Parts: sequence; C-alpha cells; structure tokens
Amino acid sequence: MSILMKGADVAKTMKEDLTGEARRLKDRGILPSLTIVRVGARPDDLAYERGARKRMEMIGIECKVVELPETITQAEFEKTFFKINEDPKVHGILLFRPLPGHLDEGPVVSRINPLKDVDCMCPVNIAKVFSGDETGHAPCTPEAVMEMLDYYKIDPRGKKVTVIGRSMVVGKPLSMLLLKRHATVTICHTRTKDLSATCREAEILVAAAGKARMVTADMIGDGAVVVDVGINVDAKGNLCGDVDFNAAEPVTSYISPVPRGVGSVTSSVLAKHVLKAAEYLSLER
Ligand code: NAD
Repeated sequence: MSILMKGADVAKTMKEDLTGEARRLKDRGILPSLTIVRVGARPDDLAYERGARKRMEMIGIECKVVELPETITQAEFEKTFFKINEDPKVHGILLFRPLPGHLDEGPVVSRINPLKDVDCMCPVNIAKVFSGDETGHAPCTPEAVMEMLDYYKIDPRGKKVTVIGRSMVVGKPLSMLLLKRHATVTICHTRTKDLSATCREAEILVAAAGKARMVTADMIGDGAVVVDVGINVDAKGNLCGDVDFNAAEPVTSYISPVPRGVGSVTSSVLAKHVLKAAEYLSLER
C-alpha cells in the first residue's frame, strides 16, 4: 500500500520548531518580519499571500503586504522596493513575479540584500544553491520537496532521481539540492527523448512540468516515490497535479497529492528563511 505524503503533517512538525525559533528571537528583542511586495492582484498571488500571512502569524512572524498598482512606474517601483530593502526592521522580502510587462525586475533582483532574499531571486543565492553552500536561501518550493522527503525519511543518497522540469523556480534548483544530498539526478524537459523510460528508471520521481496529469502509471517504476509539484487546473476546472494520481497511486510506495501536498509546505519554508534571515542580520549589527 502506498503512503500518502501529506503536506499538512510536514508543516505541523516544522511549525513546532519554527515557533520556538521565533520565540527565541523575540526574547532577544528581535521581531522577525516579512514584507510581501505585490504589484497588481493576480488571483494565484493573492491565494499564496493569504496562506503565507496565516502561516507567519501562526509561527510568530510579522507579515506586511505592500500592494502596488499595476500602473506603477519603474522609478516608483524601485524607490519603494529599495526603501523596504534598507529598512532594518524588515528581515525577509518576497516579491511576486512575474511583474507586469512594463516593469524590469533586473535592478531589484541584482540589488536586493541577499540575506533578505528569502525566495532566492538574486544571483548570490542562486550561486550558493548551485555550489552547495547552505548559508543562502534556496527557492522555497524545491526546499519544500526536500522537507517532505526528510519528513518521510526518504534519503535520496545514492538513489536514481528523475526531475521533470528545468525551470529556475523548481526543476534546476531542486536538482542541485538533491545532488547535494548525493542523489544521482536526471533532469528531464520538453526535449527529452523517451521521457517515459527515464521516469520508469527513477526510484524517486519529481514532477514539476505544469502539465495536468501528464505522468501516467506506466511512467512509474514499481514502488517508486512520487512527488508532485505541479499545480494545474484541468478541463473541468479542478485543481490537479502533474501526476495522474488515481492511476499512479497503486504502483508507488509514497505519493504526494495535489492539492494538500508540496504546496502546503512552501509557506513553512518561507517562514524558516525569514527566521534564518533575522538571525543572520542580527549578527551583522
Ligand atoms: P515552468 O513552465 O517554468 O517550467 C516547466 C518545465 O517543465 C520546463 O522546464 C519544461 O521544459 C518542462 N516541461 C513542460 N512540459 C513538459 C513535458 N510534456 N515533458 C517534459 N518536460 C516538460 O514551470 P515552473 O515554474 O517550474 O512550475 C512547474 C509547476 O510547478 C507548475 O505547475 C507550477 O504551478 C508548479 N509550482 C508549484 C509550486 C508549489 O508551491 N507547489 C511553486 C511553484 C511552481
């Protein structure tokens, strides 16, 4: 029988540690604080924001949202962003991307304080992920996958892991985190020949393609661990992952659902990064 990897269980365990950490910082006179910068009001940003605010509050982290109009000019956007970047009371900054077409993210991505860059958009943090240096912040979603594997005591060391997707948000950084943990990683993408065969060889299969139910049961090796990062809306308007869950579940040893899988862990990782940032920034003063 396959074991369901429940995001809520992972988040609950993380909450206990993170709440203690937030309390210890407060005892030292530091109120950990996250600022979310949102331009416009995209529904998926709003949904993530709601979840993140709730999670920060639960853990004891202050969470402010700076909402900017979609018509904001580049100059105004940068001015607002850099003011937040320089505010000593702000420990973490989350900028929702992509920005509206007329805005260039380049200047803020290159000048954000890497310690405050809690979702890994700046070159310093990206380089740290790729060089296996854990002093930076990895992107939250790939780290949520690692938290999930750890919670279920699935050690990637020496295992054949296939990651579907090579984006800088999920696929590539996740592959580096897995490599750091001594997995043998294969990265698949739209040009991969015989995707099914490569997936079938995997002891751990991670799907992050953004294609509703594209991973079918015949693409999964017997007893494999399957982690589904995809968030899609199917033709009937239902939320679903990249894995055809009902067909796949019987052949897996562990499988994460969508919703209530990886997505439920991401905001806990964000909280973890804000606390790490608060700690590091306090050492700088
Ligand atoms: P993306 O579109 O930037 O990248 C998708 C990747 O998958 C690409 O590298 C592409 O080559 C590959 N791909 C697409 N179709 C493929 C196919 N048929 N065969 C093989 N490879 C294929 O997407 P992303 O930002 O990396 O996100 C991936 C998925 O993860 C999306 O569904 C997104 O909504 C979801 N996501 C979830 C969370 C979360 O918190 N759970 C966070 C971020 C992204």
